[in-house]
Amino acid sequence: MRCEVCGAELTPTRTDLPFKVRETGIVILKGLPVLECGGCPQYVLEDAVLAQVDQILGRANGETELEIIRYAA
Ligand SMILES: [Zn+2]
Repeated sequence: MRCEVCGAELTPTRTDLPFKVRETGIVILKGLPVLECGGCPQYVLEDAVLAQVDQILGRANGETELEIIRYAA
């Protein structure tokens, strides 16, 4: 798979990414599997991972300003 932005090869890796939940909450997902571009700051989440992220964010209550959740595949 190649980067849509610069065409460089995407490499599977794990990283920590912040997601906005509702108005005020931020959830940081740790150890998230992503495809990272070697040529620019672009990264891609695979559909299966994205679905998991949706579920995790759906469970986050959004009442704490910052919540840190370890992603478990
Ligand atoms: Zn790129």
